[in-house]
Amino acid sequence: MPEWLLVLALATLTALATGLGPLPLIWVKKDNKTLLAHGTAIAAGLMLSASFNLLTEGASTGLWRTVGGLLLGLAFIYLSDRWLEGRDIEFADLKGAGATQALVFLGVMTLHSFAEGISVGVAFGGGQAFGLFIALAIAVHNIPEGLAIGVGMVPRGMPWWKASLWSIFSSLPQPLLAVPAFLFVETFQPALPVGLGVAAGAMIWMVTAELIPNALKDGERMSIAATLTVSVAAMTAFQGILGGV
Ligand SMILES: [Zn+2]
Repeated sequence: MPEWLLVLALATLTALATGLGPLPLIWVKKDNKTLLAHGTAIAAGLMLSASFNLLTEGASTGLWRTVGGLLLGLAFIYLSDRWLEGRDIEFADLKGAGATQALVFLGVMTLHSFAEGISVGVAFGGGQAFGLFIALAIAVHNIPEGLAIGVGMVPRGMPWWKASLWSIFSSLPQPLLAVPAFLFVETFQPALPVGLGVAAGAMIWMVTAELIPNALKDGERMSIAATLTVSVAAMTAFQGILGGV
């Protein structure tokens, strides 16, 4: 099998992993607000931890490009969030403010997947073992991202399987960009820290603007904070076992 096909196959698997995220919601009743709030807190902790891992990875190859990317991500999200705010849009099965929020969230998650696709491709350019390791790390961090997308959509009336498909959609830039990034490593490599910075900035924004306020709305403050912190601890341990990404 040519190596680019392997890259494509693995990046497709990482995208499919995102679809696993909303699955726990099959068993959660839509009106169990406390449990959903804790699900949101878990997703927030995992994403926060993942963001800082992206920043560390970016900074190790280009500190200022990573910082610049982070600020670029902030500007982009700020402007798109403002543009969408108050607009009455319909999205899939959702309407009104919930639809706007879900759409912003989905947009940000899709955007940051571009950077992850590049990082899978560039990693494979550095050898198959390293590529496999990065693909696995991204596949695993995609699962809480799918959960975060699901907790935004399923309680607002979308069936879990549709939320799962939208989650996979948000990760499609991964297989799409992994192959060109692998084939043209030299071109993509300098852009990688910028992309990682954008991805991390967008995720930190989402955690702060959407996930934590949503979790605090239906969950008790201390227990939400505890769940989120334990979730950061779990992700830190996991990344450490993998070797730190
Ligand atoms: Zn991600």
